[in-house]
Amino acid sequence: MSNNCTNNDSISSQDTCKENGCSNSPESTKPAVAVIGAGPAGLACAQTLLDLGYKVDIYEMSGSVGGMARSCEILGQTVDLGPHRFHTDEPLVKDFWAGNLDSSETVHKERLSRILYKGKFFSYPLRGFEALFQLGLLESARCVLSYAKSTLFPRKEPTFEAWVSNAFGHRLYEIFFKTYSEKLWGIKCSELSDQFARERIRTLNLSKAVIRAFIPDRGKKERTLVSTFIYPAKGAGQMWNNTLARIMRSGGGVHWL
Ligand SMILES: Cc1cc2nc3c(=O)[nH]c(=O)nc-3n(C[C@H](O)[C@H](O)[C@H](O)COP(=O)(O)OP(=O)(O)OC[C@H]3O[C@@H](n4cnc5c(N)ncnc54)[C@H](O)[C@@H]3O)c2cc1C
Repeated sequence: MSNNCTNNDSISSQDTCKENGCSNSPESTKPAVAVIGAGPAGLACAQTLLDLGYKVDIYEMSGSVGGMARSCEILGQTVDLGPHRFHTDEPLVKDFWAGNLDSSETVHKERLSRILYKGKFFSYPLRGFEALFQLGLLESARCVLSYAKSTLFPRKEPTFEAWVSNAFGHRLYEIFFKTYSEKLWGIKCSELSDQFARERIRTLNLSKAVIRAFIPDRGKKERTLVSTFIYPAKGAGQMWNNTLARIMRSGGGVHWL
């Protein structure tokens, strides 16, 4: 979440702000900050600054809040631009989420995500045996060999590409992860941090998946293949509408460009 600009100079130096005549609120000696964009990054930044006592004004050009994570009204339905599942290991981010979205405003859903590849649906997170079966004998053999190679000779660089290649084999990485991720993040996977993958992708144990295909464990459901998630009941944008409301209650200004 990086394309929002704050007036960093004014944060770091009150003197500069005083010299340039920034519009501090009467009770605050802290400088005023302009936040460009009311997407998740801009709103989180604005709320944090307000909590620290800064005067904050947000400038947004789209006419709505939430950026790519906003919800739109279409034909009387609330529609999200994409399925914005919340997942983080960061306590600070969890607190931010919980502070702006009451648990009564959320629903708990089972995840059903699929990738359409060469006319076939593949479960996402990938199910090892299903993926190999659908890819066909030749491609599956290539994937298994590639996975074996990655297991024997794991890559060391801290990149998204290396992490996913190690976890799934380079061939499966190229088929299912490379283009999608590069489109989504707008950056090459070889330049993207492995932290993106660590937080977002469940690993797959191909050998275990193949064994389970022949000897099903009926008593247990494979934990790595099940995923439930919490979602705002009125769409991802609800989180950001709530955040905006809190910002305004705290005295933050919003300017629609
Ligand atoms: C289909 C899809 C699914 C996704 N799923 C997930 C998910 O499950 N989990 C997850 O964590 N992330 C997900 N993401 C990524 C997530 O949406 C982004 O990481 C997040 O929205 C980035 O927030 P941001 O504030 O940096 O940028 P944006 O969301 O792009 O917000 C930027 C805001 O700034 C405004 N703006 C830009 N330039 C200016 C300007 N010059 N003046 C005024 N305003 C300006 C824009 O109008 C916009 O409102 C998904 C994205 C997509 C597209």
